[in-house]
Amino acid sequence: MHEMGIALQIIDIAKSSIPENLKGVPVETVHVQVGKLSAVVPRSLSFCFDIAVKETSLEGAKLDIKEMPVTLKCSKCENIWTIDTPIFECEKCHHTKIEMLSGRELDIISIELAQDDP
Ligand SMILES: [Zn+2]
Repeated sequence: MHEMGIALQIIDIAKSSIPENLKGVPVETVHVQVGKLSAVVPRSLSFCFDIAVKETSLEGAKLDIKEMPVTLKCSKCENIWTIDTPIFECEKCHHTKIEMLSGRELDIISIELAQDDP
């Protein structure tokens, strides 16, 4: 299950991105976004995260996963569109030289700490 490795990476990045003066403040939610072609199964990722987070400084934190559609751009007619299935042909001009703008990535968008507004 490669989601475990990803969960551990998310925890590492989350830990190191918390500023020094906020260390020790419990983390409530880690928001991530995964592209539909990133080969990550959101359900198993949150399952692994829940296990991996135990006994770390992020214990109790929740993982919020947002699935991002795959966005493509045709390099001939510059049409931009999104897909759910991997079909790499321009829907307008049927050109096959396509640039993938998004849909493969896994990004940490934000980390919510348990505290009132600063
Ligand atoms: Zn096109």
